[in-house]
Amino acid sequence: MIDAYSREMAAAIAAVRRAAGVCRAVQAGLVTADTLEKKDKSPVTVADFASQAVVLGELAASFPDDPAVAEEDAAELREAGHAALKASVVEHVNRVLDTPADEATVLGWIDRGGARPAADAKRFWTLDPIDGTKGFLRRDQYAIALALIERGRVVLGVLGCPNLDGQGLLMTAVKNVGAKAQPLDGADAKPKKVTVSGVESPADARFCESVETGHSDQSASSKIAARLGITAEPYRIDSQCKYAAVARGDASIYLRLPTRADYREKIWDHAAGKLCVEAAGGTVTDITGKPLDFSQGRQLEVNRGVIATNGRFHHEVVAAVQDVLNG
Ligand code: AMP
Ligand code: MG
Repeated sequence: MIDAYSREMAAAIAAVRRAAGVCRAVQAGLVTADTLEKKDKSPVTVADFASQAVVLGELAASFPDDPAVAEEDAAELREAGHAALKASVVEHVNRVLDTPADEATVLGWIDRGGARPAADAKRFWTLDPIDGTKGFLRRDQYAIALALIERGRVVLGVLGCPNLDGQGLLMTAVKNVGAKAQPLDGADAKPKKVTVSGVESPADARFCESVETGHSDQSASSKIAARLGITAEPYRIDSQCKYAAVARGDASIYLRLPTRADYREKIWDHAAGKLCVEAAGGTVTDITGKPLDFSQGRQLEVNRGVIATNGRFHHEVVAAVQDVLNG
């Protein structure tokens, strides 16, 4: 099974690397005019759209029959008032392509991400073109997260983390095979096997969580940490870089604790990262200990929050989370 998904992996890595180039170029020249408020008030930049166009364009060329579920759609770009943003997106996409694409093609690539897969869908891709937009805008950590889902199971994941380790990190995972990491830039890429930490007791663990207090309940996590005897300060880092941190042993726990009862996690926020942790030997569930169910469409409808660990004491963490959240 050494060559499992080799064609998919090659295309996914090429797409994520190109998208990272777009993100870095936009970040280098980031000005507020490039930022647009989405209806849910999270900032979206020209880079979100351009990154999605580049990745889904690459997948369309390699796997034209595969549907995709991605965060953005081009509706806003098609509105009359957004001509400048649209032009900027097309320009940034074309900077990283060998053959230039016209506006309609670029918008068409973005809109390929609108699939609504059925529970038994044979396979589809899911993409977060910039996970951790807030980190991106702060020039902090963010990720391009791409995964392949077959009949509800994540089988391949790629996380491009342009600011991790300074030079950027690329983490890849294949179900039942393993996880690897290499520098994001291809030049000196020598993939190395990634494994979770060997920490045996939660008291010795470091946990990571969102920087944004609106995305994970930090007051609950500090109570949970106290209950588990954790003394290390929380490792706060944006995006699925948290999953990468657990996968390679920078931390042994990732807590994502709901801040609202009605919030449903989006599949593109978790698919690639979850597989990286599992393929590196760790365990990922929701806050009740249930496996994440990727067969429910665009959201994790039957899950709440996330707990990822190195797998050595997962049930203890779930129990502590339940104790604290249920008072
Ligand atoms: P992070 O960088 O881990 O804080 O997560 C960023 C992601 O949080 C974004 O991609 C959003 O999809 C997601 N998000 C937005 N609102 C919420 C919320 N209320 N609870 C959890 N996640 C959220
Ligand atoms: Mg996201």
